[in-house]
Amino acid sequence: MSTQSEFSLIEHFFTDLTDARDDVILGIGDDCALLQCPSDHVMAVSIDTLVEGIHFFKDVDPESLGHKSLAVGLSDLAAMGAKPTWFTLALTLPDSNETWLKAFSKGLASLAKQHGIQLVGGDTTKGPLAISIQVHGFVKTDQALHRSGAQVGDLIYVSGSLGDAGSALQLKLQQWSDDALTSQDCNYLIQRLEKPTPRVELGQVLLKFATSAIDISDGLSSDLGHILKKSKVGATIDLTKIPLSSSLQKISKAEAVEFALSSGDDYELCFTIPVDKHEEFESLVDFEYSRIGMIEADLGLMAIGVDGQECMISGAGYDHFSTNS
Ligand code: ADP
Ligand code: MG
Repeated sequence: MSTQSEFSLIEHFFTDLTDARDDVILGIGDDCALLQCPSDHVMAVSIDTLVEGIHFFKDVDPESLGHKSLAVGLSDLAAMGAKPTWFTLALTLPDSNETWLKAFSKGLASLAKQHGIQLVGGDTTKGPLAISIQVHGFVKTDQALHRSGAQVGDLIYVSGSLGDAGSALQLKLQQWSDDALTSQDCNYLIQRLEKPTPRVELGQVLLKFATSAIDISDGLSSDLGHILKKSKVGATIDLTKIPLSSSLQKISKAEAVEFALSSGDDYELCFTIPVDKHEEFESLVDFEYSRIGMIEADLGLMAIGVDGQECMISGAGYDHFSTNS
């Protein structure tokens, strides 16, 4: 779109959407934004696209969608230990529905303000609904957290609880339900799917302690699998230690653990910490975390099930594990 309506729409909804930062020399309104980069830092950049019908349901609350569109990028910055600074927004809209735009930009602005990240530009086009957000952040030179840094003997941790978003997706698709879940539980799980919390502050803390980190967007086995592959190591995790929310604890342990291992969208962090730093980390950290296993020299991801039996987990999910639910 490059009609008058595009300009007034951008102006109305996006020009002053987020708080102004001192390092933005020129924001929205010219051909490019001009941004001041700090010295002794490297820029971390990541882009994600959410497409209607593929990444979100047509009937999703637009305010939640605004939140999630930015949350997924902030989660990537968190996983590298980068501090968010700026983002750009490419919006493809079927029409300029004011009610929708108002709610979408409210969700986006609210999360942006929380993290002091400024919208500095974008593009607006007409077409099937899709949202691309590119985030920018900074981390001190040579200090970013990589997937490739895990060492044999390191302890493996995850933040928050896992499996909530995956179970919510199945609930929404009406492909799964469990009588033990109340409507409050279902609402909580759906909230976790639609409004994930990027663990940006935890990422900052991890800079001091972690040898590797990744955000869990595809399920624990797949994302921890990325750390193992890049670090050329293996791991053993204890399935009884996988953190489950009080709602997910109501369903069978086997099902809950399966959601945690093989379904995505939780946006928690998985990270490794050397044994000699773990006590300091655990005493200092002010976040919900769980220690779930250890990095091993033998390649592959092994799991200890609820009954103490070991089994091999594949990257794309897990083959089986025996448990009493
Ligand atoms: P150009 O044609 O030069 O690319 P545009 O007409 O697309 O410029 O955009 C004009 C200004 O508005 C630019 O500064 C651009 O970054 C900004 N902009 C366009 N769409 C968006 C959007 N969805 N969110 C934020 N800024 C936007
Ligand atoms: Mg343009």
